Amino acid sequence: MNILIFGPNGSGKGTQGAIVQKKYGVPHIETGVIFRQNISQKTPLGEQAKAYIDRGELVPDNITIPMILNRLKESDCKSGWLLDGFPRNLAQAEALWKALENEKMKLDYVIEIDLDRPSAKKRIMGRRLCKKDNNHPNNIFIAAIKPAEKNGKAVCRVCGCEELATRADDQDEAAIDKRHNIYYDTKTGTLAAVNYFQERTKIVTVDGRAGVKEVSEELLKKLA
Ligand code: AMP
Repeated sequence: MNILIFGPNGSGKGTQGAIVQKKYGVPHIETGVIFRQNISQKTPLGEQAKAYIDRGELVPDNITIPMILNRLKESDCKSGWLLDGFPRNLAQAEALWKALENEKMKLDYVIEIDLDRPSAKKRIMGRRLCKKDNNHPNNIFIAAIKPAEKNGKAVCRVCGCEELATRADDQDEAAIDKRHNIYYDTKTGTLAAVNYFQERTKIVTVDGRAGVKEVSEELLKKLA
């Protein structure tokens, strides 16, 4: 099963992606996570990507496209993958489609989480990251995934980890606006990529305004 998941930053894409990943048992490949791992490990790729990420800009296609196409060739992707955060623009969508055609690979689903821009922005600013596991969802503005409280302190709602952090680019409004300018751009940005696939494969759209549980129920029903 080969799947793409789209949604503006703050739409709950990562959380829903983790649920879809469990359903199909395929690796959840998140471009943002790959970049952040490279930054924390101080690899040459991380050094190149850091300044772009800090500014809320896309890492250039000549770095990102080969990185992802190579990742899809790794052995854990043999029975499929869930790609999250790629493609982010029309050029990346075209490159991915061409690579899939060359490898005679099928795209089974394109998931789109639809969320208006002001709501997405508020959710980004409320996001809190568990130091033990970044996939543990915590958000101070979403009732269903509010961090738990221990001795008056916010702790991870999943594992109780006491270290909840914010991502620097999540608290910088200018950077958020830049990321959303890219996402909501229907000419060459991420929504242009979604539209590109509209003509080529099955698109499953869910309403991202609801809570985590409602969105995942709608999504799983549509994927069944
Ligand atoms: P994310 O975790 O998806 O919000 O990604 C964090 C940052 O990584 C983005 O703001 C970009 O700077 C960079 N990034 C992630 N995915 C891509 C991509 N497909 N193309 C270029 N840059 C990306």
